[in-house]
Amino acid sequence: MRPEILYPFFAETGSLQGVGPRIAASLEKVAGNRILDLLWHMPVDIIDRRAGPHLADIKFEQIATIEITVGKHDVAPAKSRKPYRVWCHDDTGKIQLIFFHPRRDYIGKLLPEGEKRLISGKIEIYNNQLQMSHPDYIVPLQNRDEIPDIEPVYPLTAGISGKVMARIIGEAVKKAVPLPEWMDQSLINREGWPGWIEALKIAHHPRNAEQVTPNSTARTRLAYDEILANQLALEIVRKQTKKKKGRIQKVRGTLIDKLLKQLPYSLTGAQVRSFDEIKKDMEQPSAMVRLLQGDVGSGKTVVALLAMLIAVENGTQAAILAPTEILARQHYKTLNEMTDGLGVKIAILTGRDKGKSRQALLDDLVSGEIDILIGTHAIFQKDVIYKNLSMAVIDEQHRFGVEQRINLFSKGEEGIGMDILAMTATPIPRTLTLTVYGDMDVSRLDEKPPGRKPVDTRVMALSKIDDVVMAAKRAINNGARIYWVCPLVEESEVLDLAAAEERYRHLCQIFGDKVGLVHGKMKVREKDDVMARFAAGELDILVATTVIEVGVDVPEATVMIIEHAERFGLSQLHQLRGRVGRGADKSSCLLLYGAALSGNAKARLNIMRETEDGFIIAEEDLKLRGAGEVLGTRQSGLPKFRVASLEDHHALISLARNDARLTLEHDPDLSSERGKNLRILLYLFERDEGVKYLKSG
Ligand code: ADP
Ligand code: MG
Repeated sequence: MRPEILYPFFAETGSLQGVGPRIAASLEKVAGNRILDLLWHMPVDIIDRRAGPHLADIKFEQIATIEITVGKHDVAPAKSRKPYRVWCHDDTGKIQLIFFHPRRDYIGKLLPEGEKRLISGKIEIYNNQLQMSHPDYIVPLQNRDEIPDIEPVYPLTAGISGKVMARIIGEAVKKAVPLPEWMDQSLINREGWPGWIEALKIAHHPRNAEQVTPNSTARTRLAYDEILANQLALEIVRKQTKKKKGRIQKVRGTLIDKLLKQLPYSLTGAQVRSFDEIKKDMEQPSAMVRLLQGDVGSGKTVVALLAMLIAVENGTQAAILAPTEILARQHYKTLNEMTDGLGVKIAILTGRDKGKSRQALLDDLVSGEIDILIGTHAIFQKDVIYKNLSMAVIDEQHRFGVEQRINLFSKGEEGIGMDILAMTATPIPRTLTLTVYGDMDVSRLDEKPPGRKPVDTRVMALSKIDDVVMAAKRAINNGARIYWVCPLVEESEVLDLAAAEERYRHLCQIFGDKVGLVHGKMKVREKDDVMARFAAGELDILVATTVIEVGVDVPEATVMIIEHAERFGLSQLHQLRGRVGRGADKSSCLLLYGAALSGNAKARLNIMRETEDGFIIAEEDLKLRGAGEVLGTRQSGLPKFRVASLEDHHALISLARNDARLTLEHDPDLSSERGKNLRILLYLFERDEGVKYLKSG
């Protein structure tokens, strides 16, 4: 339960002075609907109004606050396009105030002729004359307080002016109450960081331009708070899973040896290393929680199979969770082929299985007849009962969240932790690995199986589509099979589909019935059918939307064409390209871009041309884009950082990780004085899932 001290932070923005439903709606768009969200909305610049020159001394355009005497109002005729002017002066010179479409009576009241006023805004020089259009502030001399000397500038949204935003966030900061220090005092001393509330105030009431940069002292402290909360939560989950007593599963040799003997290849160094790490984990009396990270085609499947065979050798069951049915079927096929003659019973269960056959399968599962079960999330439904499931492989981990990973544990035997091997083909930069997968140990397959030829990658304008079609024709005549991926239209499956269907019809006109189409709206059976025809060579071209079918394996496919490649993330492009270059023949990849390509987009596509190493691509992508985009906003289970930005603050991650580890080692339930304060931190950054596993305190 959220501590009471945090209640003010979670109050709605509507509770602030001057925030009605309309403004609240705008605030929600740019920041969020709670006071907390406003506190995390950081200024990007300042306006310094401290300059107060005499008019005669102004030589350049500048922002200033000046004391003037109001002179004549030059009211333009009602229908005229001319602005409303007010002539003003001080003892040294003159300035015109200019208003477009003003409310006349209002200006009359604001600037009574003959009186003195303080005005603040941007002074411009036009035809050697000073002028200011729409001053930010016009106040009587005694109200000088109403003009802030330095004003923060926030990212804005329609419906809220900069002035209003600054005022509202100022109100929000007033609601923030001091919180007990959760930081290690020696760290604070070493870094010279302010306390939390002080840091918050400095961040929102900056006194100089340096203070609105992400690496200022105050902002760094706030970022560290958030990263620490992230690392603590992950470490708590990690300890929780590690704490469970696991089985000691030793390699008996029977199945593993046989498998290694009958494989048509020997393992790569990276595969051997990863399997060794897995073996060590499984021998431990605690549960394994390991991530196997490796590019498409790096050979994760055989490593996963080896891990599962350890479980089977020890008389227990294993399961693979796949994100889609197609992938589940693919695994079923390859694993059956690989284990041919080993006497291992493998079964598949998807949402499609119903009635009698499903029941028969469930019976075999509970009796222990089935050794390895493959499937979609259907394999973890309530009525799916295992005899003794001891290990689970999660394929394409990035499509599942931490929660799902935790739910998995309930399928193991009472009181015994399950070994978990998560796999991902989405290579993410090292710094991000810690923030996303910090609760797991990581093995990397950073070496490709031998014999893979580089994929010849080219970047071309979509306007050259006719040339592309000609090239496709030539390739098909030489026996190639082609993937043709159609534009990803953000957030719109309907548009995705329309574009793909149009291309499909276009290609059908040229290539006849040798073209197939798969998309997310199709029934699984239809999809499988088309895929099978492509795999069998009945189709030459497979038109597909986005990345739904990313796991499929058709070694004969040697050409990948991607339309509007600039709309894809580099990781996605990399994964798509990984679909080709799997067989003996030389492969190519065409990245087609739409009309206007920005310099940045061009640079990104060029990276694809330069390297096929997913880890390098991920690092480069991080440099060119925000971390959120690298990871893909649609993916679940990813941390959302509010104050911290992984580009600016990644150096803090390992510091926070060590901090979190050390702290939990000494104080596993966060029950010490500092521990209690750290709980508040976890709630403040909404990492409640971590606290759930602690003893209440
Ligand atoms: P991933 O799941 O990592 O994308 P796969 O496990 O599907 O990759 O392997 C890709 C291809 O490489 C498969 O056809 C597999 O048989 C082959 N392969 C895996 N390991 C090796 C190896 N050590 N030597 C040669 N080929 C391998
Ligand atoms: Mg795979």
